[in-house]
Amino acid sequence: MVEMNGKQLRDELLIDLKEKVERLNKKLGLAIIQVGNDEASNVYVKQKEKLANELGYKFVHKVFPDDVLEDTLLKYIKKLNKDDSIDGILVQMPLPKHLDSSRIQNAIDSYKDVDGLTFINAGRLVQGMPALIPCTPKGIMNLLDKYKIKIEGSQVVVIGRSVLVGKPIANLLTNRNASVTICHSKTRNIELYTQNADIIIVAVGKAKFLKKEMVKEGAVIIDVGINRINGKLCGDVDYNSVSELASFITPVPGGVGPMTVYELMHNVYIANYLRLKYVKNKK
Ligand code: NAP
Repeated sequence: MVEMNGKQLRDELLIDLKEKVERLNKKLGLAIIQVGNDEASNVYVKQKEKLANELGYKFVHKVFPDDVLEDTLLKYIKKLNKDDSIDGILVQMPLPKHLDSSRIQNAIDSYKDVDGLTFINAGRLVQGMPALIPCTPKGIMNLLDKYKIKIEGSQVVVIGRSVLVGKPIANLLTNRNASVTICHSKTRNIELYTQNADIIIVAVGKAKFLKKEMVKEGAVIIDVGINRINGKLCGDVDYNSVSELASFITPVPGGVGPMTVYELMHNVYIANYLRLKYVKNKK
């Protein structure tokens, strides 16, 4: 069994990204909008800030109170859309229930949508066109490629159908000629699908959801989940038992997580490139 090391790959890719960023004749800018004071969100934003600083990006972190009006957020996004020093805009999820997440996401200029969640980028991804791609799925593809996992013709099961992880990774793999089955909370007998899968991607949010009996020998296992048991981080995969059968497996922490933060920084770089190519030069 080979453990797929997301930290190591992130560090390798960062060297290349740093060089590219240094060659630009501008400072890249990332803005994160956060509503409320969710503890997990604070941790994620800190990780993003650390890497943005390392790369020399301008980093704007705007926090609004829990009861912020939707219009206030929309106005702020509009301002960032027009701000030439900002290349990427991200709204930290989850948002409080009174806010329409989709409306807020879609207010972001699609060329600055570094989470890849606007209708335009999601649609482009489905059609296999160049797009800003959600960070976690993009990181998973990079990990699969780094470890030379065969994608074309493979049977893949994705458990979870969120717009952030499950659906985009299913599309990316389909575009690369895998046969993909998506399972979710209404799927009956999930093991009937997973037991035949060459690659299983688990993005459910339930600790140790994927068990040894659900996996065939030699399968590649990608664990997206971030859960806590007695304060200790663990994924959606029962790592100790599943790793006995897997050929490749991502650990939690140290697998998909570090890649996600890297891909955000990479998306900021790509966003600047795309805006320069398709927007600014056309004005
Ligand atoms: P989400 O939006 O809550 O989606 C969870 C998905 O799991 C849903 O599609 C849901 O099905 C499905 N599900 C729930 N219970 C299930 C069950 N018993 N059997 C089968 N499917 C079930 O979550 P998400 O945003 O995709 O995130 C999933 C996990 O990944 C979370 O732990 C999150 O913290 C983590 N995550 C990690 C990273 C990273 O960088 N490592 C990034 C993003 C997310 P329905 O659609 O039917 O409800």
